[in-house]
Amino acid sequence: MRKNIVAGNWKMNNDLKATKKLVKQIKKTLKKDKLKNTRVIVAPTFVNLTAAVKRSKKSKIEVAAQNMHQAANGAFTGEISAEMLRSAGVKTVILGHSERRAYFGETDALLAEKVNTALANNIEVIFCFGEELADRKAGKEEAVVGGQIKNALFHLEADAFNKIVLAYEPVWAIGTGETASPEQAQDMHSFIRKNLADQYGNDVAENVSILYGGSVKPANAQEIFSKPDVDGGLIGGASLKAEDFCAIINAF
Ligand code: PEP
Repeated sequence: MRKNIVAGNWKMNNDLKATKKLVKQIKKTLKKDKLKNTRVIVAPTFVNLTAAVKRSKKSKIEVAAQNMHQAANGAFTGEISAEMLRSAGVKTVILGHSERRAYFGETDALLAEKVNTALANNIEVIFCFGEELADRKAGKEEAVVGGQIKNALFHLEADAFNKIVLAYEPVWAIGTGETASPEQAQDMHSFIRKNLADQYGNDVAENVSILYGGSVKPANAQEIFSKPDVDGGLIGGASLKAEDFCAIINAF
């Protein structure tokens, strides 16, 4: 059965002290009894992963990285490998975030390579994708999203999807305060699940968690998460405050 997941993408925020403090606050605020089928993930910046892993031990909090290089090792100054993440105790990586695509030129082809490397190292992938405003205005959102998933993931065998979480993040809703309506999210998530079913069959489609991301906050989380094909959220801004992040988790 697929799990509910709330993942916080901290982006380039929080120094070491703030990282330790936020993990501690989330640990304290989470209501354990409400978390039976819900995973809680936080993604601090690379340099603070080890501290976050250490601080989240013996709690429900899992730690993810925000990015990873596709090569095993070598002359790639400034980059971080899958093996390095594993050795830091990290078991999940976010790949394909729209900011990586927009500011660092990450393409579907590159992301396909990164996905392969993560899975080969037994690292779970939270794979992000989503259309831009112009795509939606032109009625092309399904074509864009369908293409992103196909290009980066549909070369995989079915069992790879045990280690993949999908995150639909319409670019026009990220960090803008603009949220897709619960109906828009549901429509897209249902389209994504149908694509998975067509490619891999119902078993795979039904077992993959599909998260929504884009200005989720305590005030709108419950309505979005109540949709049948929305299995949780990837949260940016609201994940930086323990109170808001935990209120979103408790929306389940
Ligand atoms: C994100 O960056 O993945 C995101 C969803 O950000 P925000 O919640 O701030 O829109």
